[in-house]
Amino acid sequence: MFNKILIANRGEIAVRVIRTCKKLSIGAVVVYSEADQRHPCVEQADEAALIGPAPAPESYLAKERIIEAAIAHGCEAVHPGYGFLSENAGFAQMVIDAGLVFIGPTPKAIALLGDKVASKVLAEKCSIPVVPSHPEPLVDPERAFVLAGRMTFPLLLKPAAGGGGRGMRIVNSKDEFPSAFRACQEETIKGFSDDRVFMEKYVISPRHIEFQIMGDQHGHVIHLGERECSIQRRYQKVIEESPSPAVDRDLREKIGSWACRLASEAGYTSAGTAEFIMDEGRNFYFLEMNTRLQVEHPVTEMVTGLDLVELQLGIAAGEKLPLSQEDVAMDGWAIEARICAEDPARDFFPTTGIVTRYAVPRGKNIRVDDGIRAGSAVTIHYDSLLSKVIARGKNRDEATRRLVKALNGYHIEGIITNVDFANALVDHPAFASRRLSTGFIDEHFVQGRSKQRPEQEKIDAMIMAGLLVYHNRQDVVRDSLVPMSPHVGTTSVLEGTIRYVVRVDEDVFDVQLDGDRKSRKWQIQINDREYDVVTPEFEFYRRRLKLRINGDSHMFRLRYQENHIQVFFCGIVRLLEIYTPLEWRLSKFMLRGIIEEDEDVLSCPMPGLVIDVSVAQGDSVRKGQELFRIESMKMQSGIVAPRDGKVAEVLVSPGTAVESDQMLLRYE
Ligand code: ADP
Repeated sequence: MFNKILIANRGEIAVRVIRTCKKLSIGAVVVYSEADQRHPCVEQADEAALIGPAPAPESYLAKERIIEAAIAHGCEAVHPGYGFLSENAGFAQMVIDAGLVFIGPTPKAIALLGDKVASKVLAEKCSIPVVPSHPEPLVDPERAFVLAGRMTFPLLLKPAAGGGGRGMRIVNSKDEFPSAFRACQEETIKGFSDDRVFMEKYVISPRHIEFQIMGDQHGHVIHLGERECSIQRRYQKVIEESPSPAVDRDLREKIGSWACRLASEAGYTSAGTAEFIMDEGRNFYFLEMNTRLQVEHPVTEMVTGLDLVELQLGIAAGEKLPLSQEDVAMDGWAIEARICAEDPARDFFPTTGIVTRYAVPRGKNIRVDDGIRAGSAVTIHYDSLLSKVIARGKNRDEATRRLVKALNGYHIEGIITNVDFANALVDHPAFASRRLSTGFIDEHFVQGRSKQRPEQEKIDAMIMAGLLVYHNRQDVVRDSLVPMSPHVGTTSVLEGTIRYVVRVDEDVFDVQLDGDRKSRKWQIQINDREYDVVTPEFEFYRRRLKLRINGDSHMFRLRYQENHIQVFFCGIVRLLEIYTPLEWRLSKFMLRGIIEEDEDVLSCPMPGLVIDVSVAQGDSVRKGQELFRIESMKMQSGIVAPRDGKVAEVLVSPGTAVESDQMLLRYE
């Protein structure tokens, strides 16, 4: 085994690889950019090497600098993590040429299987069904148009050199083809410096199911079962689980053997993932092979009990796989939620900022792989993935319940994240009913909010959480210095029934509270529904609250906003307005401020870098027309005109760094 390795990555994956190094007493060296000087992985590693400024091409993608660091620190091998250089055959070769070991497949296998087109050809040779497609990538739009006419619509256009779901376009009919082809090609040129577009049948309502494989240098290849990753936004995964509810033992054996056959044929070593899509008739089609460790590998680890990084290290060191296919056992169920710096209400645009408070859930069957802490800065330079929360259970329902509970207690303040959205996904009845597809989010959510009205029981629970904090606020203020402005009126009567009026959205609830702080037992009546509640010793500095309601314990997160309390529970976020009956009567006489949105400007919905401006002063624009392209966290987004009108002034140009809400243009 190695004495010391270099980790050519950052974030939660660097932290993850360090953990296995520690377990195996292998020295871990990390490289870091100027933006990551205080990253947890820099502290946790045995040694760290600053390799350059924040932009990835000058640091995490600077191959020579990484290899120089590995040599200078006396490393014997390089672990590439995922993303960055992990699937770069040229980098793997450079590592080998420098006399080091690349912890991953051979450059040849990466080049063969990492290519969307070549890997499909190989799959067909192995008699594995692939998505019907045009056999070669295309460059000329006119030729592509003619060839598309011979295929069945809908089609999917993909950048041949692509990844991360970027640039893909669905084409429903011939009419849509020319503009979709142009858009896809433009994005692949910008994103991957390549102009080849790949054309395949678009499978309607598919499920994404992938098989984890492991191969050693002695010709053994095994699979570690499947993961289902159907819940996606922007063609990227959000929730992953193992096993898949759509796969039984026989199917697992069959598709798993396909994955192993493909890997064997390519002489594959190390960890890899064969991705498939399954159509509504449960037919599997090979999609692509990822020649690296996957983000979602923890769910496989939690059900197989294996450490995939440990297996990778052993394989790279020339050891035989320590287990055969018959030894692989899947026990229980694991579900992972990816927590990203993004705003589900704004089309999942990336967000940035400083983490001001941070508290992670804990528990025997909970795993959190993270790369942030209070004080961490989330910048535009890197991927938006902050952490992953994984829950295990003896079955899918138990794993789901544990994940929901864990996410209820996952507190990140300072940046907008998808933590509540992820929770709402997992807590959705359609998730429980196992009706998954890549269209799940569009089907059940709009602007990050469930289309379904939350169950009254959950809203009641949130009212009780908010109200108990409010009612006990003197304690709260004394114990934790939570800033809370003094409220008109007083509720300091400690005994007897106390009445409140609570408004949530447009609904108004009559609440009666009986109980006292000494016994910590309360009877609460909301309209005509009664609950028995036990409160803990109040411990509000974490801004989390645990309550026992009718015998079941639940975790809530809270935020104080002037006289209101915002409560987060099971992905539901609501602002509670709490009044005494007298205040409520008075409030009806008060005028409410009306917020009018400024219609005369277009503001940037996220921070980033302007890369394209397709509008000038004096232009007449139409609602929905794309005017700007902004790049942030490896992702390009188009900003469109909010209404028809004439442009009075364009305030940014390509190269301008913009903040969230910065004005981009003014209408006349
Ligand atoms: P990338 O390499 O950019 O991540 P993939 O080929 O892995 O792209 O596809 C990403 C996702 O896009 C898949 O998980 C699936 O949801 C969707 N997808 C890809 N190909 C098809 C297809 N032919 N039909 C329907 N959906 C597809």
